[in-house]
Amino acid sequence: MGETEDERTSQAGQLFENFVQASTCKGTMQAFCILCRQLELDPSNYTDFYHSLKSAVTSWKAKGLWSKLDKRASHKEYMKGKACTDTKCLVIGSGPCGLRTAIELAFLGAKVVVIEKRDTFSRNNVLHLWPYTIHDLRGLGAKKFYGKFCAGSIDHISIRQLQLMLLKIALIVGVEVHVNVEFIKLLEPPEDQPNEGPGWRAEIRPAGHPISDFDFDVVVGADGRRSTLDGFRRKEFRGKLAIAITANFVNRNTTAEAKVEEISGVAFIFNQKFFLDLKEETGIDLENIVYYKDNTHYFVMTAKKQSLLDKGVIIHDYIETERLLSSQNVDQEALLSYAREAADFGTNYQLPSLDYAINHYGQPDVAMFDFTCMYASENAALVRENFRHQLLVALVGDSLLEPFWPMGTGCARGFLAAFDTAWMVRGWAQGRAPLEILAERESIYRLLPQTTPENINKNFDQYTIDPSTRYPNLNANCVRPHQVSSIFNVCPHL
Ligand code: FAD
Repeated sequence: MGETEDERTSQAGQLFENFVQASTCKGTMQAFCILCRQLELDPSNYTDFYHSLKSAVTSWKAKGLWSKLDKRASHKEYMKGKACTDTKCLVIGSGPCGLRTAIELAFLGAKVVVIEKRDTFSRNNVLHLWPYTIHDLRGLGAKKFYGKFCAGSIDHISIRQLQLMLLKIALIVGVEVHVNVEFIKLLEPPEDQPNEGPGWRAEIRPAGHPISDFDFDVVVGADGRRSTLDGFRRKEFRGKLAIAITANFVNRNTTAEAKVEEISGVAFIFNQKFFLDLKEETGIDLENIVYYKDNTHYFVMTAKKQSLLDKGVIIHDYIETERLLSSQNVDQEALLSYAREAADFGTNYQLPSLDYAINHYGQPDVAMFDFTCMYASENAALVRENFRHQLLVALVGDSLLEPFWPMGTGCARGFLAAFDTAWMVRGWAQGRAPLEILAERESIYRLLPQTTPENINKNFDQYTIDPSTRYPNLNANCVRPHQVSSIFNVCPHL
């Protein structure tokens, strides 16, 4: 006996719900496959996928999400999903910024492929969200995927939860995502068939994966602070020695834990007594500390070198920071105690038990990083040309501008760059002159390091990929086309 219409509707609703509720990267990919198979949807049909899914899944819960995504898709900049229909984009990395960029490119109607070298989202660390990012994510249906998203005054989320929800949204809007696929380098179009042959491709690992045959017009480097895309010079900002420690403790969600207040950034200058008391009582000397309650109890703090030496965390004092913080020179047990003691004092000894959460490597989740040198790319984009095939190459997220974690600017500035990149790709697809597009992108990029929650436009409802909706007093022509000639037609072997 065949299924009734009602049974089909309820089965589709359930399959969709399994996908929405999946709690890991692998689980999400699996649930998505099952959903597509059972509902006979073809995810490679990227132009129609969202609409087919929407027609197939009509449960009331899904409808709530569709209305949010429809609202977003109605931004005039996307031209009803036709702004970039002939553009093929490769995004390297499924961190928050790669996925956020991929979603925008899909709204523009482009064919978007994301490759990610890992198949797990395991970072417990927590990102601070600016009000506009909360508004942005709500508009994409964040709460449907993660019911606790920014409830009340919460303005943060763990990196893995954020990746998980963005992965789901990306899949829904027709982005093709491949995990366990690592980008190695760009491959130039072959010399012997200048016009009809394939264009730019990527060398990837594992070799022979179908994505090695994908040729694209745009590539976006979203692979984190150690970007693999060639041709971008990096600027270094050398500050005074800054050593940051992150620590995650198990959150058992008890009432006692719920009562403990978060610390949203106690800088030394604002609360000298706190830090002096901490030093006097424990010998721990910090410049700042942040505590967010999320899936874990997450702490990030900047510690002074001398106190790390005094407490035996760093064994020998070396001038070169790399050597100073190398694993051979760090006493892991002492580091665990140091971070735990600071967390205990910072929360006024109110957290009942500070047991370390376990990280991806099966170890207690504590880490120490050097922020003495921070990197930013000199340019946000460039164009390569080979045998008449032009390729637009862009950076977003940490690959573009490395954030200082205790200030938590990574995701907020990362999303701004994701929108700016989508805007550039739109111009590219519309056939604007490459030098003009690059000059505009550089003009906008100059604003990025200065952005704060206070100095960007306050009317979040008006935000689109058009930069003028987000940056007040934008001068999109401050860099002139002749000033960007060095990033146009960049020699492939740079
Ligand atoms: P990422 O989130 O770094 O994502 C890059 C992605 O690219 C990763 O999934 C990676 O696996 C993938 N990738 C890398 N190379 C390749 C390749 N060759 N091919 C395919 N895929 C590739 N910020 C804070 O504010 N507070 C914190 O406590 C904090 N902790 C962090 C801890 C770690 C270990 C890391 C790496 C970053 C941390 N950050 C933190 C930074 C924060 O995660 C980023 O600012 C934010 O996630 C946005 O970054 P992104 O999307 O640009 O890159």
